[in-house]
Amino acid sequence: MRNAIEGGLTKTRTWRFWLVLPVQWRFTISKVVHCTRGAYVTRLFTNGKVILEDKIIENGSVLEEDGLIKEIFTDRIDIPADEMIDANGLYISPGFIDTHLHGGGGYDVMDADADGLVEIARIHRKHGCTAFLATTLTAPTEQIQAAIRNVHKVMNSDYNGARILGIHLEGPCFSMKFKGAQNPKYLALPSPELFDQFDQGLGIIRRISMAPELKGAFEAAKAYASKGVNISIAHSEADFACVKESVRHGFSHITHMYNGMSYLISPDYYCQAGVAEAGLLLDELTVEVIADGKHMPPEILQLIYKCKGPDRMLLTTDATRPTNMPEGKYDLSGLDVLVTDGVAMLTDHTSFAGSVATCDKLLRFAYKECGFKLHEAVKMASLNHAKIINMDHEIGSIKRGKRADIILFDDDIHVVYTPSQT
Ligand SMILES: [Zn+2]
Repeated sequence: MRNAIEGGLTKTRTWRFWLVLPVQWRFTISKVVHCTRGAYVTRLFTNGKVILEDKIIENGSVLEEDGLIKEIFTDRIDIPADEMIDANGLYISPGFIDTHLHGGGGYDVMDADADGLVEIARIHRKHGCTAFLATTLTAPTEQIQAAIRNVHKVMNSDYNGARILGIHLEGPCFSMKFKGAQNPKYLALPSPELFDQFDQGLGIIRRISMAPELKGAFEAAKAYASKGVNISIAHSEADFACVKESVRHGFSHITHMYNGMSYLISPDYYCQAGVAEAGLLLDELTVEVIADGKHMPPEILQLIYKCKGPDRMLLTTDATRPTNMPEGKYDLSGLDVLVTDGVAMLTDHTSFAGSVATCDKLLRFAYKECGFKLHEAVKMASLNHAKIINMDHEIGSIKRGKRADIILFDDDIHVVYTPSQT
């Protein structure tokens, strides 16, 4: 079949036959034929629009060798490779990364179910996510511990789905006032010891979301930031001064901007800045937005972009159990959630309950509805996530030497190719 593809480049009859097949068929046939010849060593993506960190190459090629990016070409080339993938004008993009993802396909990370976690990884990879942090919720300590042990087990197994990079601990150290869809029964005060208890010596926690105004937050943040863990402000009623001080203690990111946080605090006639304004103003802080088109309108994303620029803004799903499932009633760590019209809400309508978005949807919204440049929106959905967990040397963009987690999508951001394995 490789000859057929190469023949296609010289316009043989086989090539014409090949062209009439749907793109996904071509990928599948190509994979099957090449899998029978043994493991891939080199793979060439050609004839596509290559999305780099700072620009798009209109008709370029990318050569992968042993799973790493070996070379990027600024034109369509025809060199020998074990597998040749004709992108046929599609975008050749780095796979998306999501450091805030709870579930999908009817499963939640908190289920502590190995098969369920693999299904979450498989569902999200279908939509272009090639790596993510399995994100926990506020729950009893033993339940969080069991979820983390399960993630550790799956991470170290052979499975077919997006790569799990570790844990994002979202909770239980949050403000009662801004708890959102976190179960109030299990809120707790932060301490290094509490996080050690969750970690259980596994060393897979890469991000912690907590409220900085809580007693013990600065000490806990300092202890874990010094290990390279990203510390994010979340579900918080902190004022501007507290956020500014928290940066000195290791906080460096804001979880789902404008959702579950203080902004424009006005106890009387006088306005005070809260977490959201601090996020916009302080360059030391990166911010993430749930860009599903439901949590906030395009103009809020445009405002955030104007303040933070393309390097300090991240698109996240915050996806939960009902993602890629029929609408209806679901459970979120003991709370009832109703999904209607693409929105997950607590049944008492007091809060959003994460989202049912996938990464391709975020990119579509940022590019089509918010008007962001495509390569910048891709950076917000991949490289910037890698950066906040110190993995940007390895993943997040198409660059020589990085892992070749390459995906292909069309102009409407429909993903038609993802890597076959983690
Ligand atoms: Zn979340």
